[in-house]
Amino acid sequence: MNVCVIGTGYVGLVTGAVFAELGNDVVCVDNNATKIDNLKKSIMPIYEPGLEEMVRRNQEDGRLTFTTDLADGVKRNDVIFIAVGTPAADDGSTDMRFVEAVATEIAAHIDRYKIIVNKSTVPPGTGDFVRGIIERNKRRQVEFDVVSNPEFLKEGSAITDSLQPDRIVIGAPSQNVAMALLELYAPLEAPMIITDVTSAEMIKYASNAFLATKISFINAVANICESIGADVTLVAKGMGSDKRIGKEFLMAGLGYGGSCFPKDTLSLIHTAKKFGETFDMLEAVVKTNSERTPRFLKRIKDVMGDLKGKKFGVLGLAFKPDTDDMRDAKSVEVINALAAEGAKFAAYDPISVENAKPMLPADVEYKDSPYAVAEGADALIIMTEWKEFKGLKLENIRDTMKRPLIFDGRNIYTMDRMERLGFEYVSIGRRKLLKKR
Ligand code: NAD
Repeated sequence: MNVCVIGTGYVGLVTGAVFAELGNDVVCVDNNATKIDNLKKSIMPIYEPGLEEMVRRNQEDGRLTFTTDLADGVKRNDVIFIAVGTPAADDGSTDMRFVEAVATEIAAHIDRYKIIVNKSTVPPGTGDFVRGIIERNKRRQVEFDVVSNPEFLKEGSAITDSLQPDRIVIGAPSQNVAMALLELYAPLEAPMIITDVTSAEMIKYASNAFLATKISFINAVANICESIGADVTLVAKGMGSDKRIGKEFLMAGLGYGGSCFPKDTLSLIHTAKKFGETFDMLEAVVKTNSERTPRFLKRIKDVMGDLKGKKFGVLGLAFKPDTDDMRDAKSVEVINALAAEGAKFAAYDPISVENAKPMLPADVEYKDSPYAVAEGADALIIMTEWKEFKGLKLENIRDTMKRPLIFDGRNIYTMDRMERLGFEYVSIGRRKLLKKR
């Protein structure tokens, strides 16, 4: 099949590469000329395990090309995916600027029957919205269909998720249109769920809202654990062993961040209100999440007292492991809040430093190892649960710190280990290990 993917971000680039890998001819379009120039040279705009190799391989085989020429991409292909950003607007609704711009451009160049597929996460009703834009602006009397095909990949495992998805959701206006998409995805042999367009759009929001709910739920449980002296990691293990509950997304911590959950929860609340409904439960989920950083900051300040001149080592900056994505990363909130009270920082992240720099105070020192970050620090703060942090020689870290104190926002170490090694350790939803001073 000939496929055009518009938007080469985390979703568009991975989608394009995977379709090419499945043997399709794919052109990826972006209006960021630097990104496209780099991609032509196989230089990736993002970090995603396995992506570079897959892009390079398919470029060399001639199945994957990159361009800024949207008109050409539309004309030469039968299926056009829209995978541009849909950030939150100030009122919590979805900013549809990029989708609208792309739909208008598609309308200007559509010259025969095409299937337009919304892969961006878009509010229910966007299928009709895109259809309306193309109808009003098309220059030739041609037929087209608009399909919803929401994306469920996770940054950090995007390639694997795309090759082995739990399900593929196709919201199409008719069975015939759905069949074209089924054919494209058939080689994956994944379960396919065919729905109407609006239901497919809703599936994406309902899924993200549910996962956000699990996170806020366990974080609310963590708060109680802190007060009653229980250990939330054990509570989550006990709960998650029940198949009806499941252990995924039951990790207490600093709450959800990243480019999806924060905006998608707000968007669903906004949609509910727009249609005269309420979603009090989801509003509580958002509120619980917004309280995570202030609570963590309070725990730090309660132990450290006056922060002026205190030196923190920060382990991890990205919003989660295995990505360089800093959108809505908790590290930004935490570091900037502590810096405002006079704290100083040395930070380490395996890959997201360049993305983080513009978001953090200018005097943050960036180091090339976790051990360098710990040297002379009054305390360490763990912001991202990178795997390499779990295997650190903690004795070496302890011996070079000014005070062997760790604030762990991700609960990556066991209480036993920290106690045995003589650390002071303040984590989430567990008792504090502190020495009398
Ligand atoms: P992104 O910001 O990484 O990428 C968007 C790309 O679109 C950018 O490269 C931008 O230059 C390009 N673009 C914007 N306007 C354009 C135009 N007019 N013409 C051509 N290109 C244009 O975004 P993303 O993280 O890939 O997310 C894309 C969509 O997928 C969003 O709706 C998001 O909610 C959804 N989604 C994201 C994830 C994720 O983990 N990132 C997962 C599932 C769904």
